[in-house]
Amino acid sequence: MSKNNDGPRVLIAGAGIAGLAAAISLARQTSIPNLNIHLYEQAPELLEIGASIALSPNGMRTLEKLGVYNALSDEVGFRTPSGIPQIIRHWKTNQVHSVDTHVNVPDPRHITTRFHRGHLHAALLEHVPRESIHLDKRTVRAEADHAGVSLYFDDGTSAHGDILIGADGIKSKVRQSFIPEYRLRFNGKVYMRSTFDASRVEGKVPDLPADSVHWWGPKDAFFASRLGKGQYTTVGAYSDPRSTEEVEKSVVWDQAGNVDFLRARYEDWNPTVKALTELTPHTKLYPNYTGDALSTWVLAPRVTLIGDAAHTHGGAFAAGGSLALDDALTLGLAFAHVFKATQTLSETDIQTALELYSQARQPHTARLLRIVHGQININSNQSDAENTLLSRLQNRPNTVWLSEHDAEAAFAATLAGRVYPLCA
Ligand SMILES: Cc1cc2nc3c(=O)[nH]c(=O)nc-3n(C[C@H](O)[C@H](O)[C@H](O)COP(=O)(O)OP(=O)(O)OC[C@H]3O[C@@H](n4cnc5c(N)ncnc54)[C@H](O)[C@@H]3O)c2cc1C
Repeated sequence: MSKNNDGPRVLIAGAGIAGLAAAISLARQTSIPNLNIHLYEQAPELLEIGASIALSPNGMRTLEKLGVYNALSDEVGFRTPSGIPQIIRHWKTNQVHSVDTHVNVPDPRHITTRFHRGHLHAALLEHVPRESIHLDKRTVRAEADHAGVSLYFDDGTSAHGDILIGADGIKSKVRQSFIPEYRLRFNGKVYMRSTFDASRVEGKVPDLPADSVHWWGPKDAFFASRLGKGQYTTVGAYSDPRSTEEVEKSVVWDQAGNVDFLRARYEDWNPTVKALTELTPHTKLYPNYTGDALSTWVLAPRVTLIGDAAHTHGGAFAAGGSLALDDALTLGLAFAHVFKATQTLSETDIQTALELYSQARQPHTARLLRIVHGQININSNQSDAENTLLSRLQNRPNTVWLSEHDAEAAFAATLAGRVYPLCA
């Protein structure tokens, strides 16, 4: 990707799921000669960081379209024996309340799959030349004008190119450079995530579910599932009444949590959850932030966003990984479409491609953000009562439009000047 210096130079800030997928998509979906892609990642090393991540059928299909076949195997990711994406149970009685279902997923490799985030990241990394990834490059600022784009790093160096893609996550510095007034809000939930070897719990927890289970309580929730490569995950989500400012001061994303706090929090829950918390060896904390939908993802001439930088939905519906992959596929399709028609990549062509990408993706993620913000309002007004829980369980939104979204069809609809039906 970065081997030849003659072609258009693409700068990608962030080499997470979205950044890597964008690099793969631009290289594989388009026929732009000598595309010169560079990723600038803040981490000094690409380690297996994070906890568990789920990909819905849309994300799994997109991995295949991007040619990331190594992530489709049963070894890397876990698919439930029943094929049910997740089962929702009552926190105390352990009774099944509802199940998510797949509607149109004929290929078993595309059903919801759960990974250690590091394993999914490593699978994508195999498709990106190491020499195109520049580590220890923390973006502090970005600039753009009609002539080109620039990234400035905290070590005093900078990079310059023709196209800039902000793939630097929910707290994006690229987004902040062009929309300084944009604010994230803490949405009242902190996730305590853990991944560990499945042998810690298998055969040791009464009624350990073979499937992925989400237990809902009046305020808190608990999730447990096997992952690929013999891993297991537990995720406790607890309500924290503090303000955004207070949480920002006291909890850093990915910081080590206190496992005794997790155990105390779920002490009164059903015996399966209680046993899982007792066997969970450690936790990492992820306070959940959300922000408003951006009206366009074209922030300046030649500049766009992708992944969590573009749609700040927090961890809602475990959709972040799949959305990032769909964003990446669509970005590649947009550049492929424009380049096929013009055989050039002028400033106007770049603008057209970025606008097409934004038009195809923004309405879909704006719909998700409307649901996320609606739920935050319900959650913050609710009492602890059991009947409120039952009502929430019964009124769970149907999100098949999200988990089985067809990004390619949505892009084709955009080209035809139509709104993709599931985005309506
Ligand atoms: C450390 C980590 C752990 C995570 N753990 C989970 C998890 O357990 N479960 C889950 O569902 N989701 C997790 N996520 C979020 C999930 O990966 C995303 O929601 C989703 O995959 C979309 O990916 P993204 O690439 O847009 O964002 P991210 O995955 O957040 O990737 C952004 C990338 O940009 C880099 N970056 C950020 N700021 C800068 C900067 N200023 N300069 C240069 N590089 C920068 C980050 O280091 C990261 O590599 C995690 C993200 C991170 C960064």
